[in-house]
Amino acid sequence: MTVYGIVIPSACHCLQRDLFFENCAIKTIKETIMAVKDIKLDTPQDIAELLDLEDFGQIYRLADQVRNEHMGDTVHMRAIIEFSNVCKRQCIYCGLNKSNREISRFRMSRREIEETARQAVMAGYRTVVLQSGEDDYFTAERLGKIVGDVKALDGFQDTGPPIVTLSCGELTREEYAYLKEKGADRYLLKHETADDALYSRLHPCGELKSRINCLRDLKEVGYETGSGFMIGLPGQSLETVGKDLLLLKELSCEMAGIGPFISNPKTPLAGEQNGSTELARRAVAIARLLLPKANLPVTTSLAILAPEENPFDFGANVIMKKVTPDEYKEAYEIYPAEYSKTNIVRDKKELEEKIRFYNRVPK
Ligand code: SF4
Repeated sequence: MTVYGIVIPSACHCLQRDLFFENCAIKTIKETIMAVKDIKLDTPQDIAELLDLEDFGQIYRLADQVRNEHMGDTVHMRAIIEFSNVCKRQCIYCGLNKSNREISRFRMSRREIEETARQAVMAGYRTVVLQSGEDDYFTAERLGKIVGDVKALDGFQDTGPPIVTLSCGELTREEYAYLKEKGADRYLLKHETADDALYSRLHPCGELKSRINCLRDLKEVGYETGSGFMIGLPGQSLETVGKDLLLLKELSCEMAGIGPFISNPKTPLAGEQNGSTELARRAVAIARLLLPKANLPVTTSLAILAPEENPFDFGANVIMKKVTPDEYKEAYEIYPAEYSKTNIVRDKKELEEKIRFYNRVPK
């Protein structure tokens, strides 16, 4: 198998492979970057073999160097407001799916959203992510007003209006275009899995084809577009992950969130094993090689399952922080997690300290 111009021995020849890496002639960052430019990650099978390596250290280092070369040492902090947990869909891994009667549903008011965004912007966040379930109450017109409110939070900083990212699910092309006109800059819509049959099993109310069409629409109407997927979904193989990564590349995603699946006891996938954090890190590293200039967040699910690991040494350059008010935060339960009380200013300072602790530059 050829990767970045290097022949990688297959997983069953671990000894030879380790010797190969020890003897690898890559000595400088420049040489490594040159090698990176030749990498071949053309098929799901290529990627599956890479993901299956016993020792992934060399690939992690390549990914980190590519991140450094293309994105620098900055870690971008995003404030995320989860403004509605009402959802009309039934994704079977998600605690917000409409069949779950065990959570209390909420919708933040327009003023609450604006006030939360104002606090985030005053605390120094430059990007506000507005996320919700697929909630028909928030029509494009209502969402457009909210986007306008947040974009108007100019004047707290000398950096101009905040960047607004929406993550509100599948809408029509016209609705996406309308929200773009109202000022939305970016849109996140994870494809979750690029395997058609697996997608259908996980999403009784949707089709992979429609999701991909939405992502294409988002690109065409001018959004900085993000997708992403989960690691460790029941029925997923390493080749599926390869397909997922190649789909990100095919769509030329500017952002990609890749995190481990966490089983939610209030869903049909209760009791399933959580996804591997190691595999999630490997997938992020390969995403960095495939999309050198993409914004790749450390996903919340990865941070929850592996809180002690360095979140920034495998290609990621973005981190999101919930600023959702406490009365709603617990109810936005896609998967179970414990959160401390929100204090937007203090939380941001702690995040900055964490980023600096790992020798990276918070922004
Ligand atoms: S993943 Fe999104 S669309 Fe699916 S049930 Fe959860 S909130 Fe709704």
